[in-house]
Amino acid sequence: MANIIKNINSDIKIILGGPEVSFDATSILSTYNFVDYIIKGEGERVIRPLIECINEDSLSSLTKIKGLSFRYNNEIIDTGYSDTIMDMDTLKFPYESEIPDKIIYYEASRGCPFRCSYCMSSIDKKVRVRSLELVKKELKYLIENNVKLIKFVDRTFNANKSYSREIWKYLIDLSPSTCFHFEIAADLLDEEDLNILSNAPKGLFQFEIGVQSTNECVLKNINRTMNFKKVKENIERILKVGNIHCHLDLIVGLPGEDIISFKKSFNDVMSIMPDELQIGFLKVLKGSPIFYDKDKYGIKYLSYPPYHVLKTDWLKSEEIYWLLNFEKVFDSFYNSRIFERTISYVLNNTSDYFKFFEDLTTYLQGYEFFERNVGLQEKFFLLFNFLIQKYEVSIIKDLLIYDYLFTTKKSNLPEFLRKDIDTKIDRKFKKYKENIMKKLNLESMKGLFILPMSLEVCKNNNKFDIIYNEVLILFDLKNQISYTIHVKDLE
Ligand code: SF4
Repeated sequence: MANIIKNINSDIKIILGGPEVSFDATSILSTYNFVDYIIKGEGERVIRPLIECINEDSLSSLTKIKGLSFRYNNEIIDTGYSDTIMDMDTLKFPYESEIPDKIIYYEASRGCPFRCSYCMSSIDKKVRVRSLELVKKELKYLIENNVKLIKFVDRTFNANKSYSREIWKYLIDLSPSTCFHFEIAADLLDEEDLNILSNAPKGLFQFEIGVQSTNECVLKNINRTMNFKKVKENIERILKVGNIHCHLDLIVGLPGEDIISFKKSFNDVMSIMPDELQIGFLKVLKGSPIFYDKDKYGIKYLSYPPYHVLKTDWLKSEEIYWLLNFEKVFDSFYNSRIFERTISYVLNNTSDYFKFFEDLTTYLQGYEFFERNVGLQEKFFLLFNFLIQKYEVSIIKDLLIYDYLFTTKKSNLPEFLRKDIDTKIDRKFKKYKENIMKKLNLESMKGLFILPMSLEVCKNNNKFDIIYNEVLILFDLKNQISYTIHVKDLE
């Protein structure tokens, strides 16, 4: 993009910044002559003086700016790294004059006290926070301006307990319709935190929690401290309350993690049944500690963005390639929540969650799932055919009907999921219609879609309960609810 812009108009100055270029500025400037300046380190104190003197093109003015690399008369000049900004309150609130979107990023603190070797934040040694008073004022302003989602970019939001608690309490008191996203370390949550969080209205908070691996040796190799037992205990408590969406992360390709170890990490995390599990692939970022250790661990990676791992001393490239497909399947069939009732039933019947998605991946490979875009209806069809090899057809069919109807909100079921009401039951249903409506508190049956089922599915505490019964289900697709009529009650 920068190259194209420069080609169109060579007067336009190209300024790059961020960790991808900060640690390699000289070589980037020598390789790409369309780049004019690179800001090294935190940019806020550099960008303004740079813009102020950019047109003068005066060497003496430019060399006074700390945190800059640039080309001058075919020579590359480097003024080192910018100074770390210690007083976060001196940073201007970026949304004062304009809120660009319904989803915005907000930074209350910078830096992380932890030292995970794959992470750029591990080299940012000082944790600095914006004053609570200012944070509250700015959040209130964003809420009043109807921002839908505020994503805190703070690296470990709850590293400073009193700080995070104060913000959480403040937001719970306000209880706005805005949702707040935090990256947290779940093992740091204590009783007081959990009590505060249990009072959050549903949907106010969502958490992203990095687990990365549950293998102690792997965690040691990446210099990460985490008590998985505590992580599991705390997330299970949050999920039981059911008010906070929990998204967990695992990383493929960490030093020491082979396929067996990854399988265990995956099963450990899945035993929590998180709302979402993101399977990421190690990225070897220039300047991160793992970049300097890559040869020690035999890590080969893409030399261009996103720099993800290709092989390690523990994982062959074929295994990583296969895990990319595995991740695609897991994303489509678990994270999407499209098949949540069906998948939850299957996973409740196993403890080897990896094996289930492994078998599904292998099955889908036979249908060229990874070589083309597969539509929603075909996904249902493929999952149906895969599951009926092992489970009772009537159960799988009914579960998929629930998922299909609630996902698409349309009553025209595909051929393989279709079923008709038995004429005998239909007659009885019509006969007792008035009574049924009264019993269910319904004024009319307009818009309801009626199907005979062999099971009812109810959601309790974020979990699905399946009750086996001969029933008629009245689906209200618009409002995403269903009513149950027991066939025996039609007698
Ligand atoms: S991975 Fe998270 S906890 Fe570890 S250094 Fe980075 S931001 Fe901190």
